[in-house]
Amino acid sequence: MIENEKPFTHSLIHSFNIHFLVIPFNKPYLSGNELQYIGEAVQSGKISGNGVFTKKCQHFFEEKYGFRRCLLTTSCTDALEMAAILCDIQAGDEVIVPSYTFVSTANAFVLRGAKIVFADSSTENPNLDADKLSALITPKTKAIVVVHYAGIACDMDKIMAIAEANNLFVIEDAAQAVDSFYNGRPLGSIGHLSAFSFHETKNIISGEGGMLVINDERFEKRAEIIWEKGTNRSAFWRGEVDKYNWVDIGSSFLPSEVVAAYLFAQLENLEKIQARRKQIWAKYYNDFSFLEQSGKLKLPIVPSYATNNAHMFYLLTDSIEQRDALIGFLKKNKIYAVFHYISLHSSPFYKEKAGDVSLPISDYYSDCLVRLPLFYELTEVEQQLIIDKIIEFYNS
Ligand SMILES: *Cc1c(COP(=O)(O)O)cnc(C)c1O
Repeated sequence: MIENEKPFTHSLIHSFNIHFLVIPFNKPYLSGNELQYIGEAVQSGKISGNGVFTKKCQHFFEEKYGFRRCLLTTSCTDALEMAAILCDIQAGDEVIVPSYTFVSTANAFVLRGAKIVFADSSTENPNLDADKLSALITPKTKAIVVVHYAGIACDMDKIMAIAEANNLFVIEDAAQAVDSFYNGRPLGSIGHLSAFSFHETKNIISGEGGMLVINDERFEKRAEIIWEKGTNRSAFWRGEVDKYNWVDIGSSFLPSEVVAAYLFAQLENLEKIQARRKQIWAKYYNDFSFLEQSGKLKLPIVPSYATNNAHMFYLLTDSIEQRDALIGFLKKNKIYAVFHYISLHSSPFYKEKAGDVSLPISDYYSDCLVRLPLFYELTEVEQQLIIDKIIEFYNS
């Protein structure tokens, strides 16, 4: 009797699950030793910052990617704010930032009084168009912030050459770009400074979390001071000074050891996490390519100089109306896809200061780009359902 019931029960549960399945856009996850390491951090008697797990995480990145010096921060936003302080951005300085990005890319520099000059995206992908960069430079320009959107590299040789010719700092907003490369060079290692994010929506997570990478040694000493609230406490711990003092501006940019412990467990599983994300990405890409071939949608383009770290899977619809219809259709089927970013040059905050600016390609991505669920624990059944529903949408 039990034998007979089994297949029936199984298929009942199966269809029950499918019917009530809710597929979130993102889901935080445990990859292995996260909870164990958090316990160890607590039991070690020190859960404030710059302890054993913080150092382990920093060394991991320094060793694996050859980053000169890494400092964990509480967010990528914080790392960008540190970069703005380190570049000594002053009121009136101009900083070039893509419009199609998260607010922090610009806001970190606005906090220091910078005037933001927004760059348009490339037609190939949402990264800033390096061919239009030179036209934005004025005698007041001090820095260029590039965003490797979806973990796909910007054209860094071109950008670094323009920066060098004009004596500008380059900051990589590598929030989405962990374990991705430009012509074999790790993203985050190319600009003078770089910022990573370990927010729960990124590939490698710690809830909130980030990291500043210092590639230019001129910034190394000062970065530590800014990180430690403007004190030389790090030098004090190393025995380099006999007491620690307030020596510069700074803030509380260090994460606690609880956060670093979670992060270190994720880093131990980086290969496994990346392999799974790439598998999901490749399935989306392959299963949708016939829709692209028939002209129904557009898929991401990875330039030959870039790798794909599977941070994000997006597709490009024909119009804002079609985008809303697709997101609405998926939502009706309990699948949560999202669009983003409203171009920063169109934001209420910026428009009030700068008036109307026209960046049509950035606006195109704001209107037409749809991000699909892509997270480590997304199951094959869930992904198939998402794919089937999108195909159904385009065939109806
Ligand atoms: C996520 C993200 C940020 C912000 O990261 P936080 O760690 O949440 O501060 C900044 N820039 C880009 C491009 C991002 O994707």
